[in-house]
Amino acid sequence: MSGAWLQDREASQKAELERLAPYALRAVDTQGRVRAETPHAYRTDFQRDRDRVLHSRAFRRLEYKTQVFVHHEGDHYRNRLTHTLEAATVARTVSRALRLNEDLAEAVALAHDLGHTPFGHAGERVLAELMKDDGGFDHNRQSLRVVDLFEDRYAGAPGLNLTAETREGILKHGCAWDHPLPLPELGRQRSLEAQVADAADEIAYVHHDLDDGLRAGLLDEEVLHASGIWQRARTAVDASFAGRSDTSENLRRSGILTAIINELITDLIEASAARLERAGVCCVDEVRSAERPFVALSDGLAEEKLALKRLLMEHFYRHPRVQHRTRKAEGVIADLFRVYREHAELMPGAPGRVDEGPARAVADYVAGMTDRFAIAEHRRLLDPHEPC
Ligand code: MG
Repeated sequence: MSGAWLQDREASQKAELERLAPYALRAVDTQGRVRAETPHAYRTDFQRDRDRVLHSRAFRRLEYKTQVFVHHEGDHYRNRLTHTLEAATVARTVSRALRLNEDLAEAVALAHDLGHTPFGHAGERVLAELMKDDGGFDHNRQSLRVVDLFEDRYAGAPGLNLTAETREGILKHGCAWDHPLPLPELGRQRSLEAQVADAADEIAYVHHDLDDGLRAGLLDEEVLHASGIWQRARTAVDASFAGRSDTSENLRRSGILTAIINELITDLIEASAARLERAGVCCVDEVRSAERPFVALSDGLAEEKLALKRLLMEHFYRHPRVQHRTRKAEGVIADLFRVYREHAELMPGAPGRVDEGPARAVADYVAGMTDRFAIAEHRRLLDPHEPC
């Protein structure tokens, strides 16, 4: 390859200066890593963050962590890995359209659920309750613990040593709790790239939970007729399918779901661009000091999405079959927590840090489990028929 066409890191950084909007976070402006490193020959710091997340063990474990369905319930439902990949691809589309830093938005989106417990929010609720006198538990904080402390890939120090900007995106909220590494400085608002990753997460799960709920037969299409965005998509698809013989119910439903995600993403891009334009935002500092985030749906669609989430809550997440499974999952997490608290020696190779107390060590260990490992451990430790 001719040297004239070679794109090294410096050329990539220069291209960002030309291509990105003035309010985007450029790799060259990073506040850096906790431990300084020699820059890579070809990748920017944010590209390197993205790749580190993708190559982490915690990322691979997402495949066996619940989104809504437990992994053995069906091969076509989302798990936390496919949810993460769908969120990341939405984040890329939105970032590119807004001329933000796609690499940073993607790194944050890929890392955003690394701290999720087994069994989705059911596991998180139980750990939060069990840890309420020991510093609490939430998955955003846990995601930062995973990338900062539990990945052991580099000699000399734990963690992935990500940039301050990626860590800020993962952390989401300011917090008053102790963390063994210095926390990134948080402005009133986070970067636009972190805001995009959040919005992409929401769009991804609303879309795929509708899909999975309908596919499982737990969500009735009739219920969704109360939703404006569903109605518009359905009307458009039914009109385009009228009189055709090469369609099916499956294709019709796919068409509706595609129209919904498309409307959400398009609205997010256009409403966010209009907000940035109206406010005359000209730099990252103005993003950080603003009263409100700039990346959000238009007011009308935000309300419709909220109504859709309520329908999902009422008719899908609280469906008796899902709730029954949720109760069982809560029992598994609570049992494991109790047994490990009483018998720390039963946690071989636990990632917990002793200096943060035995309860935190147990929470870290349980939170890191996949669904199937948690189920197997529960059987091993509590089923009297299992050999010790
Ligand atoms: Mg998520």
